[in-house]
Amino acid sequence: MKLLLFDIDATLILTGGAGLKALDRAMERLFSLRGAMQGVAPHGKTDPAIIREIFQNKLHREHVSEEEISTVLESYVEFLHDEVERSDTYHVLPGIFEILESLKARNDVLLGLATGNVESGARIKLRRGDLNRFFAFGGYGSDSEDRAGLVRRAAERAAAHTSTRIENDQTFVIGDTPRDIDAGRRSGFRTVGVATGQHSVEELRAAGADFAIRNFDEGRDYFLRSTFME
Ligand SMILES: [Mg+2]
Repeated sequence: MKLLLFDIDATLILTGGAGLKALDRAMERLFSLRGAMQGVAPHGKTDPAIIREIFQNKLHREHVSEEEISTVLESYVEFLHDEVERSDTYHVLPGIFEILESLKARNDVLLGLATGNVESGARIKLRRGDLNRFFAFGGYGSDSEDRAGLVRRAAERAAAHTSTRIENDQTFVIGDTPRDIDAGRRSGFRTVGVATGQHSVEELRAAGADFAIRNFDEGRDYFLRSTFME
């Protein structure tokens, strides 16, 4: 049995900045802070880690409680519904539907998520592209502020979904940033870079990815061969 754990933002979909706008609106409503996300590089970070960074850098707060982070996340998720819905540039990335349809049909593959989004946010982002049906479980920013923690949580949930053992070297963490690759490696899994975000194939390989593709349209066959599925 193979386990494939997909990141969401810039790996499966692009939301056109819906998450950033929703977090901006949450911070403005709760703390009258404008432009919260300006100068914050969110790529590959978990939602709670991004919020902690805003508290520290924008509100100059050293200590941030779990309750405060939860309050921001609640407001963020409310705004996220609206921002994902109204985004003009939301789209599912090249080759994603095709690869997910073909993998879903196999009985030797389990599909899961490994994303820094909190679970409710992840499901909102995937709903507009009709991608939730491919993923019965995942690891989320709501499980762990540290990305490696949520990757491991995803693998634990996968184990609960199958009676067959899933070996570490049959588990693939797939994402668009060096943070995805680092989290996969720290968890003892294999890693696949997809250069549909801010990082090139070369950068993802240099970050330690076992292999990297430009996107799932061009890289589909190479991906299937390299994960020993073809
Ligand atoms: Mg990403």
